[in-house]
Amino acid sequence: PALVVGLTGGIGSGKSTVAEAFAALGIEQVDADVVARQVVQPDSPAWQQIVAHFGTGILQPDRQLDRAALRQRVFSQPDDKAWLNQLLHPIIRQQMQQQLARARSPYVLMVAPLLLENQLQSRVDRLLVVDVPQRLQLQRTLLRDGGSEQQVAAIMTAQVSREERLAAADDVIDNSAEPAQIEAQVAQLHQRYLALAADKAK
Ligand code: ATP
Repeated sequence: PALVVGLTGGIGSGKSTVAEAFAALGIEQVDADVVARQVVQPDSPAWQQIVAHFGTGILQPDRQLDRAALRQRVFSQPDDKAWLNQLLHPIIRQQMQQQLARARSPYVLMVAPLLLENQLQSRVDRLLVVDVPQRLQLQRTLLRDGGSEQQVAAIMTAQVSREERLAAADDVIDNSAEPAQIEAQVAQLHQRYLALAADKAK
C-alpha cells in the first residue's frame, strides 16, 4: 500500500486549505468527514441500524439523517452516544482503508480533524499537523462560521490541545501568516513524502 500521510489540526486551523495545496500537486485524499457522511446514506446498513435504534424522528423529509436531531439525542444520552460510536467507527475505518487502498498517487493524504481524538495514529505512516495560535484559530473560525466565541471555545476545549498535537506530529505546517505561505511549505513536504514513498515501495 502507498505511504499514508495523516493530516490533522484543530478547528479552523487550515486543514482544508492545506489539503487543497496537496491536491493541486496530484495527491489523492481520503477525508474522514466525507466518509462519515457516505456510510450513513439512506438505506445503507448503518442508516438502517440507526433508524431502527432511534426511530424515524431523526430523519429529514428527504430521508437523510437529521444530524442536529441526532446530535441532540446523543448529547443527553451517553449510552446512545456510545452505541452510535461503536456502530460507526469500525464502518468508517473500514471504508477509509478501502479508499486508501484504491488511491493511485505516490502517497495518499488522510484528512481527519479528529485523528488524534479517535486514535487513528496507528493507521498513518506519518502525521502532519497544521498549527496556528489559538487566537487565530478562534478568529478564523468565527469569520468563516459565525456563531459565538463561546461556542467555538467549547469545541476547542473538547479537542486535544495544541501541545498534544505538536507532540504527536512528525511534520508541522505553520499557518499563522497569509495563505500564500502554505504553498512553499507544502512543496517542501511533498518532496520529503515522495522520497519516503519511494523508500517504502522498495
Ligand atoms: P475545520 O476543521 O473547522 O473544517 P480547517 O482546519 O479545514 O477547519 P480551513 O477551513 O482550511 O480550516 O480554514 C479556516 C478558515 O480560515 C477558512 O475560512 C480559511 O479560508 C481561512 N484561512 C485558512 N488559512 C488562512 C490564512 N493563512 N490566513 C487567513 N485565513 C486563513
